[in-house]
Amino acid sequence: MIKESKEAALKELLDKYNIKPTKSLGQNFLIDYFALNCIIEALEIQYNDVIIEIGAGLGTMSKEIARRTENFIAVEIDKHLMPCLKDTLKEYEKVKIINTDFLQLDIEVEINNFPASCRQAVKIVGNLPYYITTPIIMKLLEAEINIDLMVFMVQKEAVDRMIAKPGTSRYGPLAVALQYFFQQEILFNVPPHCFYPKPKVSSTVVRFKRIKNPSYKVNNKKLFLEVVKASFEQRRKTIINSLSNSTGLKFLSLDRETIKNILDEAHIDSDLRGEALSLEQFVNLANTIDKYERH
Ligand code: SAM
Repeated sequence: MIKESKEAALKELLDKYNIKPTKSLGQNFLIDYFALNCIIEALEIQYNDVIIEIGAGLGTMSKEIARRTENFIAVEIDKHLMPCLKDTLKEYEKVKIINTDFLQLDIEVEINNFPASCRQAVKIVGNLPYYITTPIIMKLLEAEINIDLMVFMVQKEAVDRMIAKPGTSRYGPLAVALQYFFQQEILFNVPPHCFYPKPKVSSTVVRFKRIKNPSYKVNNKKLFLEVVKASFEQRRKTIINSLSNSTGLKFLSLDRETIKNILDEAHIDSDLRGEALSLEQFVNLANTIDKYERH
């Protein structure tokens, strides 16, 4: 009954603003307030946190965040949702609503716009469309800012890619980078009837907390991420071939012999495929390349 009334309220809102949900943008709006509250709790919002919401939609979750912190940016790509989103958030003058593709947003600039005293922790939240989950998370990991906590609602396939282990088909740059920087927690599932319109599959809420003291230390974050991406560029190739042919690592101009020496020094068999390397091996590899680059 409650769910039906939430669905009716959302439909009314869509009618009022003449909005037709766009499937290609993953517009399945959350209508389950229990799930919504659990996501808000998972964010552990403190007064001085900076929060960015990716894909604010009609502002249902944004409003709950805005009530808890002033340092809040709501990003939404769809200009048709702007009148509704602005209306939902009109009481919260300090909220910054940005109508853009999150992939085009300069998050370093946006976050650094907040005075340091208001940046106790940087937290990201989003009910992410499936088509863009990996690029969004990779962008966050590559950013020159420390993100303390992220809470995402994603499809199960995306979770599988986040938690994948070496030697499995889903293991890739997303798994390696996330597992290096963040401790992952799978919080709960959200079935299709919690959204309008109903998606075909269930979603899962996952939380990532930054690991303050990783077991293996990466000396150069940018290089580490480039090496990881290069190692998976051609999954079926050996690591020596992947690194030698990688377009992403061209800027290093390493010849094959040097790469062989690097792999030997990092104790990595050059005939292995990238997907067989553990997190520790990727860290070793990137740190060894970094050392060669500095000499
Ligand atoms: N947060 C709202 C909720 O939970 O009801 C909406 C979630 S809906 C699943 C995903 C939202 O992300 C949509 O409003 C969609 O327009 C927006 N979106 C899709 N691609 C985006 C992008 N590249 N940048 C920013 N927002 C995007």
